Amino acid sequence: MKRNRKAKILATLGPASASSDVIEQLFIEGADVFRLNFSHGTIEEHRKNSESIRNIEKKYNYANCILADLQGPKLRIGNFKNDKVSLKNGQKFTLDLLNDQGDHSRVNFPHPEIYEVLTPNSIILLNDGRIKMQIIEQHKDRLITEVLSEGIISNNKGVNIPDAILPISSLTSKDKGDLLKALEMGVDWVALSFVQNAKDVEELRKLVGNKASIMAKIEKPSALKNIEEILEVADGIMIARGDLGVELPPEKIPSIQKLIINLCREKGKPVVVATQMLESMINDHSPTRAEASDVANAIYDGADAVMLSAESAIGKYPIATVTMMNRIILSVENDKENYNLSNINIEEKNKKRIGTTDAITSAAYTISKNAEAKAIVTFSVSGGTTLRMSKERAPVQVIGVSPNISTSRKLQIAWGVHSCHAQDANSVTEMVDIACRIIKDQKITKSGESVVITAGVPFGNAGATNLLRIAKIIDDKDLT
Ligand code: PGA
Ligand code: MN
Repeated sequence: MKRNRKAKILATLGPASASSDVIEQLFIEGADVFRLNFSHGTIEEHRKNSESIRNIEKKYNYANCILADLQGPKLRIGNFKNDKVSLKNGQKFTLDLLNDQGDHSRVNFPHPEIYEVLTPNSIILLNDGRIKMQIIEQHKDRLITEVLSEGIISNNKGVNIPDAILPISSLTSKDKGDLLKALEMGVDWVALSFVQNAKDVEELRKLVGNKASIMAKIEKPSALKNIEEILEVADGIMIARGDLGVELPPEKIPSIQKLIINLCREKGKPVVVATQMLESMINDHSPTRAEASDVANAIYDGADAVMLSAESAIGKYPIATVTMMNRIILSVENDKENYNLSNINIEEKNKKRIGTTDAITSAAYTISKNAEAKAIVTFSVSGGTTLRMSKERAPVQVIGVSPNISTSRKLQIAWGVHSCHAQDANSVTEMVDIACRIIKDQKITKSGESVVITAGVPFGNAGATNLLRIAKIIDDKDLT
């Protein structure tokens, strides 16, 4: 099985998609990565879903990718006596540490460590930014605020405090427990929420080791400020527009999206655009025109992947959302007029680079661009060369081959990579054999067309790629 699409689709699983049949349909329609969202659901539900994904992998002989998304320090208020209250502009409202149920004048806010760092004038946002309060008095055990934007709040609503650098790790004790379970399930990526700096990522790395790749979710102004250092230590980035768009004004999001995508592309690290992409399809058969444009523009921007959240997790039409996303991406990728991810600018910026792998991937790109070759096959144990190839945004299909199944799985997120698991080659002859077999089996080229094959010798070691071979695929021959 092979998809004819370069940008990838992440689908979040939830009650609307938690059955092996629906997951299989999501896969068939085009989901390349499945997100298990540990902010919701039980460990058992996530485990069951991960088993379904691995069963589909066996059935279709196609490496599938799982991302475990840890909740992180999402701040929440407690409960209300009558489940909700209506707040009015100008009224006072207190957040405190009392365990009593809330009313129109106060509610529990069980995060004492936050009280200390806030100051009078700090802004507190509730319920995805719908309600805005300003602190007028700050105490160790309570915050007295004035309501600036009125509205209704209900039990356990989320709280965002944009301008504060929170004195907390982005890894909570719940996250640590969830992480152990996720690693037991054999997930390929772990996403860290509310990252503020590189240290947050490094702390997670100590616990994850080399068992999974790490995706830093950019959803706080402090993360944006520290984006360069975060990008240095993370394996990939999620532009988490949901919380980011609460902590920053929404009009800032489009330019931030472009900025982060460009930084990730320069570094060759996968970048995912997330949240509200096809939001209205939670309830409707089709997206708004604005939503279709949003997905398309993320692809024009050069993102590796776009993500479905509530649409596939709790929406009415989880499968149709993947079908729609697939259609929108294909339509952009077929737009010869405007779709150009040529990496000339990136090349210019990185002129100084001299590594062998870089030289080989860059040569492979040039050959493919000049239409001498129809596909590029990268043999890579760790996946490094394949990711490096993905960074080139070559116009042809990149076939990432790895003898390491976890490498094959994690690479499904990368732009333009058709990731295959295959036995390791022991010689150049064997390498060309394996490459040709995959290309013929999956009908990637026509007879007589050439492909570029890259690898590192000696075989079987994770290390620099130092070999480039051009092979002509002839139907009735194994090798040229
Ligand atoms: P979430 O992250 O869905 O876990 O909140 C994505 C976002 O905030 O956009
Ligand atoms: Mn978020």
